[in-house]
Amino acid sequence: MFSKIKKFIFKYKFLFRRKNKLIYYYTKVLKNYNDINKVNKLKSIYQKKSLEIDFFLPRIIHIETRTKCSGGCEFCLASYKTDPRTDGSMQEETVEKIINELSEVNYNNRLSFYNNNEPFLDKRIYSFIQIARNKLPKAFLELKTNGKGLKIENIERIFNSGLDFLYINDYVNEENFKKNLHSKNILKIIEQLKKMRRFKGKNNEKNKFERIDIGLRFEGAVMNTRAGTAPNRQADYNSNEKIYKSKDWICFRPSEMMTINKEGYIGACSEDLLFSEKMGNINKNNIINIWNSEKFKNTRKELLNGNRQCMSTCKKCDYRGFTQESFLDFGI
Ligand code: SF4
Repeated sequence: MFSKIKKFIFKYKFLFRRKNKLIYYYTKVLKNYNDINKVNKLKSIYQKKSLEIDFFLPRIIHIETRTKCSGGCEFCLASYKTDPRTDGSMQEETVEKIINELSEVNYNNRLSFYNNNEPFLDKRIYSFIQIARNKLPKAFLELKTNGKGLKIENIERIFNSGLDFLYINDYVNEENFKKNLHSKNILKIIEQLKKMRRFKGKNNEKNKFERIDIGLRFEGAVMNTRAGTAPNRQADYNSNEKIYKSKDWICFRPSEMMTINKEGYIGACSEDLLFSEKMGNINKNNIINIWNSEKFKNTRKELLNGNRQCMSTCKKCDYRGFTQESFLDFGI
């Protein structure tokens, strides 16, 4: 009976949101309760697996083939206005080494050729996707772009190279965001996609396409602290008091994700665009050896126990530590 009431409230919570604050807050408490349960279940799955020599393969691998972004988002240090990194590109041999080593383990999770950068600024992106497609037939090849300067020809070419899914995050100013208005370039792309059978999909819903997701975002949004790098959260992560609430939160990132920069360094976390915490270098070691290294294992252990004091980046981080996607993957 209780679970039926729970399901009913979840399903129709929009009916109660404004009219009944008590029920609204009740659904929030229930949601948190459900999340805590899921986090604990996933934690024990990861802890059990940690006792074995080899951990699960990463669910997501990010490869930043060129260190540059054309976006000007206020929450991201990689914005062209604030990026302290020098622009540089990963050597092609390094990209091929990563793909070959993933091919040896028949990698079948997500491979994303971007991290804190704009992937279409690297003109080699098409050939990287093509090589990955040929050698990793089971991997999910995904890209996220800010869409600046993107043309319909780029979209056709990247899918013809073997991409599985493209996210276009259209970052706009506050005025346009409130008006729900995409930038001119993206409006043009939307109209072009609507005319292409390949992308417009069966149902032809408004702005919904097959294998392409177009989102409208606010470039001035205040997000999490991004491992202490977010320019518009400086006051928060320099204040122990505000970050304090997240200091003992579990984080699954090092159990799920690998991030590789142009020099071949593997960072402990994709949020850390400066790679201040390194786990190894792909040019000196095998990618899977690094993933199963003592260093990764110890970091995993600390963060599964909620010790965010274990790394300089985690100390300043208020990311919630989990995604619903991971729970779904493990049937939780
Ligand atoms: S706590 Fe934050 S910085 Fe540390 S691994 Fe998790 S997301 Fe990254």
